[in-house]
Amino acid sequence: MSGIQLHDVKKIYPNGFQALHGIELSIQEGEFMVFVGPSGCAKSTLLRMIAGLESVSEGEIVIQNRCVNQVLPKDREVAMVFQNYALYPHMTVYKNMAFSLQGKMPRDEIDRRVREAAENLEISHLLERKPGQLSGGQCQRVALGRAIVRRPRVFLFDEPLSNLDAKLRVSMRLQLINLHQQLKAEGLPSTMIYVTHDQVEAMTMGDRICVLDRGVIQQVDKPVTLYHQP
Ligand code: ADP
Ligand code: ADP
Repeated sequence: MSGIQLHDVKKIYPNGFQALHGIELSIQEGEFMVFVGPSGCAKSTLLRMIAGLESVSEGEIVIQNRCVNQVLPKDREVAMVFQNYALYPHMTVYKNMAFSLQGKMPRDEIDRRVREAAENLEISHLLERKPGQLSGGQCQRVALGRAIVRRPRVFLFDEPLSNLDAKLRVSMRLQLINLHQQLKAEGLPSTMIYVTHDQVEAMTMGDRICVLDRGVIQQVDKPVTLYHQP
C-alpha cells in the first residue's frame, strides 16, 4: 500500500504534555490532504512527525511502505515548505534551490531543474539575488522552488501562505493546486499535506480535509461534504 498511513500515533512532549491522542489516518498516493484546526490543535506537530523532524512517541507512520523512523534523513522523499520560508540567507536564490541536489546528480541536470522551476514560478530574474533582497511573496516562491526541484513523492506545507497578503495568498493557492494537477498529469503524482488554520484555504485546496481539535481528529471528509453539514 503506497501513500501515507498513520496508526494510533501519539505525541507526548518531553515536558509530559500529550499533543496527539491516537491518530488513525490513511492518505492516498497523489492526494491533496489539508489539516485544519485552531492554533494549538497539534497540526504542526503532526506534520513535523510525518516529515521526520519530530519523534513519534507511540504508534507508527508509514510513507511509501516505509516506517518514518527507519528512513535516514538523506533518503527521505519528503520536502517541507515552512511558514517563515527558511531560506539560507547567505546563498543566492539559485544556490538555495540547487543546494539539496548537489552531489546527487550531474551539474547540468541540477541547472535544468533549477531553471525550469524558476521559470514556472516566474522568479528567473531573481536567481542572483539573496533572500534579504526579496519580498515575502518572492521568498515563498523560492521556498516552493527549492521543494519542487527535488521531485519529492510527498510535499508538506506548514501554513506556507499565512505571511502573505490576501491577494498574493489567492494566487499562490492557485499555483499550488496547479502544481499538484501538473505533477499528476505528468504521471509523477505527489502526495501533498497542507496545514492551515484558514477554513477557506482548506475548502478550496483539499481533496479531503482532516479537522483536528486538541490533538484528536474530529472528522475527515471531502470539502463538499463538510461544507453542506448544518
Ligand atoms: P498547531 O500547529 O495546531 O498550532 P502545535 O502542533 O504547534 O499546534 O502545538 C500543539 C500543542 O503542543 C500546543 O499546545 C503546544 O503548546 C504544544 N507543544 C508544541 N511544541 C511543544 C514542545 N516542544 N514541548 C511541549 N509542548 C509543545
Ligand atoms: P560554491 O561556493 O559552493 O562553489 P557557487 O556559488 O560557486 O557555490 O555555486 C555552486 C554551483 O552552482 C557552481 O557550479 C556554480 O557554477 C553554480 N551556479 C551558481 N549560480 C549559478 C547561476 N546563476 N547559473 C548557473 N549556475 C550557477
